[in-house]
Amino acid sequence: MEITLMHHTPLDVCAHAIRTCWQSFEKSDEGGERDKALIDRVGNKYKHASTLEHLVYTFYIKGVSRALLQELARHRIASLSVKSTRYTLKELKNSESFGEEDYKGAEKFIVLTGNTLVDTASIKALNNLQEILKMGISNDVAKFCLPESYKTELTWTVNARSLQNFIELRSNKSALWEIQKLAHNLFNSLPSEHQYLFEAKIYNNKH
Ligand SMILES: Cc1cc2nc3c(=O)[nH]c(=O)nc-3n(C[C@H](O)[C@H](O)[C@H](O)COP(=O)(O)OP(=O)(O)OC[C@H]3O[C@@H](n4cnc5c(N)ncnc54)[C@H](O)[C@@H]3O)c2cc1C
Repeated sequence: MEITLMHHTPLDVCAHAIRTCWQSFEKSDEGGERDKALIDRVGNKYKHASTLEHLVYTFYIKGVSRALLQELARHRIASLSVKSTRYTLKELKNSESFGEEDYKGAEKFIVLTGNTLVDTASIKALNNLQEILKMGISNDVAKFCLPESYKTELTWTVNARSLQNFIELRSNKSALWEIQKLAHNLFNSLPSEHQYLFEAKIYNNKH
């Protein structure tokens, strides 16, 4: 998978929102250590967590499975724009078919698990789907036999409060392995000065 952080709110915007409550704008150090401590104290320790909603991140997430997508989409406090199979299956239709063990070639379209039985079955499903597309069946109908391993990409916008919740739930060992990876990669893609807000939520740091 590939993650790009396209946009983020500077910390001083969140500090300004907090300072609105007490009209203490003159105490700001423009997103420096004093503002950072304020955001942590008010947003996390005092549980005035709605202030964290002023920090918003937009990520471009590439090369994740549709199995992951359906779990990611359960996080309601976020916005998603997803690559549509209805409009993009021609990529598969126009490509060569894959040999049963052509993992490298098939990886352009599917997420591999490392389990040979599962990955070979995914390649078979990919070839079946391609055959159906080449027979002229429309994308709207053909997409019903997509394997869950089929790769997708999306623009995902989420605020810091919801991202904390996502990272806490999905970096945990009980979550699906691929979404665990996503949670860690999202954390690593954050600007370094923002990471402190999420460190306590990352599974590895707690145990
Ligand atoms: C390990 C694991 C296993 C899971 N297994 C399953 C499963 O088997 N089947 C299944 O269906 N789902 C499963 N889920 C998904 C899970 O139930 C949640 O839907 C998902 O994790 C999104 O969490 P969320 O509701 O906290 O996030 P969001 O939807 O982003 O919501 C964020 C927060 O907003 C608040 N909120 C949002 N909507 C409401 C509301 N309507 N009412 C009150 N408060 C609200 C809550 O505080 C919530 O935590 C699993 C999740 C995990 C992490």
